[in-house]
Amino acid sequence: MAGLTIDHVTKRFGEQSAVEALSLDVAPGELVALLGPSGCGKTTMLRMLAGFEPLSEGEIRLGGRTLASREHHVPPEQRNMAMVFQSYALWPHMSVADNVGYPLKLRRLDGESYRRRVAQALALVGLASYAARSPQELSGGQRQRVALARCLVTDPDVVLLDEPLANLDRHLRAAMEQSFRDFHRRTRATMIYVTHDQSEAMALADRIAVMREGRLAQWATPETLYRQPRTAWVASFIGQGSLLSVAAGRPGQRLEEAALMRGLAAVPAERTQSVLVRPEHVRVHPASPSSQDLRGRVESVTFRGERYELHLRLESGETLIAYHATALGEGQPVALTLCEGWCLEPDA
Ligand code: ATP
Repeated sequence: MAGLTIDHVTKRFGEQSAVEALSLDVAPGELVALLGPSGCGKTTMLRMLAGFEPLSEGEIRLGGRTLASREHHVPPEQRNMAMVFQSYALWPHMSVADNVGYPLKLRRLDGESYRRRVAQALALVGLASYAARSPQELSGGQRQRVALARCLVTDPDVVLLDEPLANLDRHLRAAMEQSFRDFHRRTRATMIYVTHDQSEAMALADRIAVMREGRLAQWATPETLYRQPRTAWVASFIGQGSLLSVAAGRPGQRLEEAALMRGLAAVPAERTQSVLVRPEHVRVHPASPSSQDLRGRVESVTFRGERYELHLRLESGETLIAYHATALGEGQPVALTLCEGWCLEPDA
């Protein structure tokens, strides 16, 4: 297994940069998600990795070998990578087994070795008994597993996945997330997974590259992205939370309850630090008129099954999201304790 290095890669289409000086070091066997809103350059990066798109600047290396630079371009078929598309791209006139074996046929493999590798790949995705069916006789999730088996059959160094679950309904996506985790654990292939769905990226990836307008906004584990997002933009893209202005802390610092509550009580002119407060760090109590508590009012209440989600308006005018075990009435005054907050850098 080889690690993948993306070294200051830039891709321009005419005047416009789709990807700008992107650098990532992907460890062998790691599953990395490229996450970002539509148009941020995820697919362009994936296509450069696959070799479908030449790059304008920078270098891509696999192990010690240069795959692409301004001067050098290894064609896709010599990269030992496999790609899984959103649309599955299965041949409708071929059986499941023939679809899976197709890349081996291209490599002129047949006979016993061909049959064994197809059977192994199908077994790995739990479809051994579907070999003779045609793709039309399968569900969306099963079709995507055929596409996974087809990309595994050649034993690739790197698997590239372009929004592979985007066509499936929510229920099936959750089940397929588990299939992907199993698939990755068993193969230990290096995988690059493109998605604009943060919960999918968080559930699957070892590390996530959050992209914004072609640039890397943050590159970290899912836990770090959630707990320590660099900017308000990253914070708004990962999980739920509220931004408040406080007179305490500096970027990259965690504020404990006492410092956070003091910082919120300061006069507005002194509250210059932006802080992210996650809903699970907000405690909601009945408001007592006499107390000095941080106070707010319930603006809306949404039932989420396991809890209620409250949107609150503070006396400062700022909004705050909180969770609560029971329903509260809209308009109800409440007192609040914020247990912790994370100080953000200003957005670029
Ligand atoms: P989505 O999630 O919508 O697929 P993405 O993050 O994958 O978006 P890309 O498809 O990589 O984004 O596109 C990045 C930018 O590059 C966009 O502004 C897009 O319009 C532009 N772009 C992509 N391919 C081309 C092309 N062949 N010619 C010109 N511009 C392109």
